[in-house]
Amino acid sequence: MTRRFFFNRLLSTGFFLAFYNVLFAKKPKNPIDERLSAVNPWLELSKNAYLTNAQSISKMVKGIPILAVLKNNAYGLGDVQVAKILDESNAVSGFALVKDERCIALRKAGVLKPILLMGDFAPNLGMDLIRSNITLSVFSMESLKKIKLMALHSEKQIKVQLYFDTGLGRMGIPYYQNLKWVKDLLSIKNVSIVGVFSTLVTSYSFSLEQLRRFKSIKEKLEKIGVSAIDYHLAPSFSLLRTSTSHLDMVRPGILLHGTYPLAKMQESEEYPLIPTYKLKARVIRVERLRKGDTIGFSRFYKIEEDEWIATLPIGWADGYDSRAENGAMVMINDKLYDVVNVNASHCNIKIGPKKEFSVGDIATLIGPEVPEITPEGFGLRLKGNNYMQIQYKESIPKIVYDEFL
Ligand SMILES: *Cc1c(COP(=O)(O)O)cnc(C)c1O
Repeated sequence: MTRRFFFNRLLSTGFFLAFYNVLFAKKPKNPIDERLSAVNPWLELSKNAYLTNAQSISKMVKGIPILAVLKNNAYGLGDVQVAKILDESNAVSGFALVKDERCIALRKAGVLKPILLMGDFAPNLGMDLIRSNITLSVFSMESLKKIKLMALHSEKQIKVQLYFDTGLGRMGIPYYQNLKWVKDLLSIKNVSIVGVFSTLVTSYSFSLEQLRRFKSIKEKLEKIGVSAIDYHLAPSFSLLRTSTSHLDMVRPGILLHGTYPLAKMQESEEYPLIPTYKLKARVIRVERLRKGDTIGFSRFYKIEEDEWIATLPIGWADGYDSRAENGAMVMINDKLYDVVNVNASHCNIKIGPKKEFSVGDIATLIGPEVPEITPEGFGLRLKGNNYMQIQYKESIPKIVYDEFL
């Protein structure tokens, strides 16, 4: 093939154009933009907000390591995405999850820090968990049996943490039980106990009693030779309110996402956190409804005067709380509008007598921009709680930004 022939061929097949485009044409602004034009809702996460919050939490607990709780898909925000961000934080020492296959998913995604499975595991995933270097929990006699059985077959060291029930009554071996089984576990060569944990309830006085129970376990464990391991039991609320609960590690979930567990907690002034995410959707319909029209299956919202109503393609089946129709707001082009109806896959926004925006404009349903739409603001407007907005469906795409501008 001569050079000329090759060149002609290139031109004729359009290769030239392709080359020209690669070399000289304007690159698409941002590959993400294309995903943003989707007609489905999406979540945006700020790496900077997560890392800053981790530092703030670290300050709250005077530098004690953070075991980041990313259960329930990091409250719907994306366990893999959040873990990959916090894997880079020197304030975070590891991750704790509740579902077996999610622990493995984090490892597969390249997360390097220790991962603790606080829940049960399917026997057929046992070896996978060990190979992925996931720390398992002994939370019942049955789970102990399962782990011991695996130890018979595992070449690899099995890391475990002992989970005690000091009063939450949900998971763990009751604190008053005989600890003979721990001695037995210590004698198994390829099992190493790397931690002991429990979970505090919200009541301050009872949390102190729980702490006493936990410390009595610690003393007993030390007597039988369990040493140099981490003790932890404080979720976000106890971390803030029971300073003696910090021990070797703290276990926040909600704080990492930039929300305090309760509304208007005084600590939020000293240690402000940044909401780490935005929930967004594009307007897919704008119509002028007439006086007397209604919206929703139960005809929930009645049009009093002719007004413009917008539709967003997000509803309670996506994890947007259905109570939003009782007072939540969304932001569109820097202005706030009332949510007047929430169905499974759609919700409606009241615009007013003038059509102020159009199909294709972007609505921020939750975000850090103004108090009305922060997770806490959302909870306050609906007389609910701060955990209301954190159950987004796994299928909602997540886009990670270095920071929100
Ligand atoms: C959910 C949970 C946490 C974290 O709770 P937050 O209130 O989100 O901080 C900590 N420990 C256990 C065992 C949990 O289940």
